[in-house]
Amino acid sequence: MTTGYKLNRRDYLGGSLALAASAVAMGAAHAQSQAPAAAEPVKEPPLIAPPDPNTKVPTFKAPPGSIDTHTHIFGPQSVYPFAATRPYTAPDAGLPAFATLHGKIGVERAVIVNATVHGFDNRVVTDAIALSGGRYKGIANVSDTISDRELEALEQAGIRGCRYAFLARLGGKPDFSRVKRMADRIKGLKWCIDLYLEPALYDDFFPQMRSLAVPYVIDHMGTIKAADGGVDQPAFKKLLDLQRTDEKCWVKISGPERMSSGAAPFQDAVPFAKKLIETAPDRVIWGSDWPHPNVRLMPNDGDLIDFVPRCATTAALQRKLLVENPAKLFRF
Ligand SMILES: [Zn+2]
Repeated sequence: MTTGYKLNRRDYLGGSLALAASAVAMGAAHAQSQAPAAAEPVKEPPLIAPPDPNTKVPTFKAPPGSIDTHTHIFGPQSVYPFAATRPYTAPDAGLPAFATLHGKIGVERAVIVNATVHGFDNRVVTDAIALSGGRYKGIANVSDTISDRELEALEQAGIRGCRYAFLARLGGKPDFSRVKRMADRIKGLKWCIDLYLEPALYDDFFPQMRSLAVPYVIDHMGTIKAADGGVDQPAFKKLLDLQRTDEKCWVKISGPERMSSGAAPFQDAVPFAKKLIETAPDRVIWGSDWPHPNVRLMPNDGDLIDFVPRCATTAALQRKLLVENPAKLFRF
């Protein structure tokens, strides 16, 4: 990268001290970004909608130390350029807006999941972690060819797992062997694997997930749609069975706006979330998914944190979901 690039980034981070603190840790992710990219897409990726800036004041008061385990930072592109092979283009949603959002919904800590738009360049995540004073951890996108040294550097930078998106629209191909090989390699780091998959892949993937060497997290309540038969639908029964019988299976109570057929307060998503929390109260975590890429209907983050007490109905369950479980899984 050029000197001009570094100057931009230093300006963005607000000082050279912060840059120095993160520079060593950045090395691995930086090297990853130099990997040869696939051919340029023929068409410009579609521009997605920005988040709702008018966050409602929530009714629910999240317990101290609450962790949002699924959020993204997009750019700014002038500092963290998007990958040429990205499936979509996001409006900038940088660290200041990210921090403001969490202040508004009363959440003190976060796990930043690197989004597909940033490809294998994890600096947007590791820079934010370096500036957070221990309040942020991250999930990286890693290539199959990343070295053990680079993985170790990411761990040192606060990364606690890596992500595989198998959604057709994100360009994911249903090849689980990559996940299995990476799981064997990251076992010593105590990382988890973050999986974004659709019910169409359950039958193929679930047996392979059971045999993974590390814990895994299923994003957005398995991307089940409430309209596909409610809580009695076969896919949801399979998900509950996996959750009940495999101690490595964690589920993210996130994306009610993706699951629901309606608008806030996403009433039809409540029974699903409730059942997932009841089934494995020690292996569920919550995420906002701000800034909400590729949603049918842009949610308000105030509504999303207010979703929590409707599905985690006791203070003890809320503490597990928001504080204790993620603190354990991501080693805060
Ligand atoms: Zn997301």
